Amino acid sequence: MNIREEIGCVNAGVLIFSVNDVAMNPDVLIIGGGSAGVAAALAAARQGAKTLLVERHGYLGGAGTASLVHSFCGLYDLPPTADAPPCVANPGIPQELERELLTQGIGHGPLRMGKVDVLMHQPQRLALFYDQWCRKEPNLQVLLHTEVVGCALDEKRVAEMTLQCRGTTWKVRPRTLVDASGDAVVAAFANHPWDQTPEHELQRPAYIVGLGDVDSAVLSGDGPLKIAGCLVRAIQEQKLPAEAAGAHFRASAALNEAFLTVDLPGDSFDATDARSLTEIEMLGREVTFAIMEHLKANLEGFSQARITTLPVRAGIRESRRWIGEVILTEDDILESRSDAHAVANATWPMELRETARGPRLLYPKEPKACGIPLGALRARDLKNVFMAGRCISSTHRAQASTRVMGTALATGQAAGIAAASHEQDTARLAQQVCAILRQLEPAK
Ligand SMILES: Cc1cc2nc3c(=O)[nH]c(=O)nc-3n(C[C@H](O)[C@H](O)[C@H](O)COP(=O)(O)OP(=O)(O)OC[C@H]3O[C@@H](n4cnc5c(N)ncnc54)[C@H](O)[C@@H]3O)c2cc1C
Repeated sequence: MNIREEIGCVNAGVLIFSVNDVAMNPDVLIIGGGSAGVAAALAAARQGAKTLLVERHGYLGGAGTASLVHSFCGLYDLPPTADAPPCVANPGIPQELERELLTQGIGHGPLRMGKVDVLMHQPQRLALFYDQWCRKEPNLQVLLHTEVVGCALDEKRVAEMTLQCRGTTWKVRPRTLVDASGDAVVAAFANHPWDQTPEHELQRPAYIVGLGDVDSAVLSGDGPLKIAGCLVRAIQEQKLPAEAAGAHFRASAALNEAFLTVDLPGDSFDATDARSLTEIEMLGREVTFAIMEHLKANLEGFSQARITTLPVRAGIRESRRWIGEVILTEDDILESRSDAHAVANATWPMELRETARGPRLLYPKEPKACGIPLGALRARDLKNVFMAGRCISSTHRAQASTRVMGTALATGQAAGIAAASHEQDTARLAQQVCAILRQLEPAK
């Protein structure tokens, strides 16, 4: 693009970026700064591509910061035996993140929970960590408060993307892009086929708040049973809404701090509808505040407790999913399928949260990873579009495994490396990505 065109692109008539600024002229555009987007951006930039990462909120981390999700699942292999030590499932960025979070005291664990290992983390400190991690990459520019609001197509490619920040819009023409929005927003803008689960089967949304001054003792031993009993009685006596039955408390690493998670009804919820999103945010606040008022008045250990942190947004487990060259299925996960095109390991069981009865975990037959093929990270009909994280090309049930943040880091890394390449053929590109992955910090 020349300067005249650039000026024409800025609605306000003010040129806010210089011609060679990556913000105006990226090779690779990453949409969304969650686990998947950060990994994609770092990976593309490290391959030498001028990379622009845009995030509509004021910090990076996606659900892992903005929705107060506080543990990395899918970061480790499924342990082959009960006493096997935790082993990071993917090389490179997931391995680096685990090491850094533990070294800097932002991560705690890993903790074995039944048959899986998880790494707990502090969401606020994770946001700062992501800032610092991204700022170290000379080829990467991050723009916060910047949203993708449209695109233009040229045959089988996305030719142009429209970005917006507070009333100023401008257009960029990246060579490739990675949709890490969680909501497959580019599929919607481009009118490319996507999939969406009917409301009654959707993985339910949830609302997480941070708590302070909870006596840590009430969250251990028989404490959780007492809390559940207190909440059930209050629901029966109609002092609390039925949604309070889905409440779950977890101590954070800091003394007397905890998180409260409440699963919310999914039956009439549409994660891409403004009315529906508004209702779920308001319901989340209503229910969590009511629970805390009730426990404060009725249960020892909660008398000083209070909500200290609200999420930027309610937690969305599932919305749109891309249709890619390959669609990852439930059988792929359960049979731990993998082939030469596999570019990321998925190790989390399928965690189904479709009903009010709580999670149901479906494990693969053998404790082995499913290899996600590059075709599940590449749009079926748009050759320069890759995707990563929650919205990759998978069935509803396979997404119940691949959506977790450890796997999102891995699909992000693979999509970022692929997007930085000039190779067009998916099979050859998968070989290239695998060769690069083999040279990265090995998973330990
Ligand atoms: C209640 C709940 C509990 C969970 N618990 C766990 C858990 O314990 N462990 C675990 O590993 N996973 C958990 N998950 C799943 C996990 O948090 C998400 O699936 C994961 O964070 C997905 O990562 P992502 O990068 O694909 O998407 P996100 O983290 O959702 O990030 C997407 C980002 O894209 C941005 N974005 C969207 N559209 C645009 C646009 N048009 N322009 C610019 N930016 C845009 C968003 O603001 C967001 O920051 C949980 C999820 C929920 C909802």
